[in-house]
Amino acid sequence: MPEEEQARRNQVMQSRLERYDVIHWGQEFVGELFSVKEQQRQFSARLMDRPSREKLIKDYAASQRRILFLDYDGTLSPFKEHPETAVPGAILIALLTTLSEDPRNNLVIVSGRHRVLLQRWFGSLNIGMVAEHGAWIKEKEKDWVPAVKVESNWKEKVLPILRSHEDRLPGSFTEEKEFSLVWNFRSADPELASVRSKQLADELSYSSENTELQVLQASKSIEVRNIGIDKGMAAKLLLADKTFDFVLAVGDDQADEDLFKVLPEGSYSIKVGLSKSYAKFNLRNHREVVQLLTDLTKTVKP
Ligand SMILES: [Mg+2]
Repeated sequence: MPEEEQARRNQVMQSRLERYDVIHWGQEFVGELFSVKEQQRQFSARLMDRPSREKLIKDYAASQRRILFLDYDGTLSPFKEHPETAVPGAILIALLTTLSEDPRNNLVIVSGRHRVLLQRWFGSLNIGMVAEHGAWIKEKEKDWVPAVKVESNWKEKVLPILRSHEDRLPGSFTEEKEFSLVWNFRSADPELASVRSKQLADELSYSSENTELQVLQASKSIEVRNIGIDKGMAAKLLLADKTFDFVLAVGDDQADEDLFKVLPEGSYSIKVGLSKSYAKFNLRNHREVVQLLTDLTKTVKP
């Protein structure tokens, strides 16, 4: 290499070394470390400990205008093999009735289920409901209204894809909802289901690219639906123009993350199961959720 070129390269290296000294390097390293830590803090599993649980109960007791967003499947009840059989039991209905009878409470069941089914199960309660992951909203004492106007003629294209995968995975079946299609595989062989569901998710993601569609994977199902309809958007509509001094959201699926993300500062959010979440806390299972809600009904005003 000619001497001139050597000198030029050396010069570049020297000036880089001057700028990039040990302090700079150290700052950059520590900065990275903090940002990773911050990301972990925002998106990680944090089991609700006793002091946090007690604080939640205390805040609930002291509040005057509360809103409680509760998912149903996997949150208030265990997963059932066939979605139709997951009827809420008498104990749960009694608990929800007690919660809804407190005039300070706005109880909202936020589910992926069809509104007709939610109406059948919870219609006798004085509560709000959100069906099909936000597509339909029913405020307390009001009728069901669609959250937004959307096209659903895409179903003709997606339905045959789901049907073909039904054939490839015995026990799987497709559920048609107003604004979405859901491929369920909770009663299929788990090993084969894991392979087939990945294949289907890939195929759907590919075919829904550049469309108004979104592919949503839950633990036992894959759902295709219009973009812009989610539990978060529905919650925002219910929170708008109102003030609440206690906000709680509980859910177990990916769809519930949309809800956790939009809650105002100071809200309580709980992810059911020990996976990572935007929620502030985790509880292990639906039994712990029911226990917490039961404890809330026993609080007395301080
Ligand atoms: Mg759920």
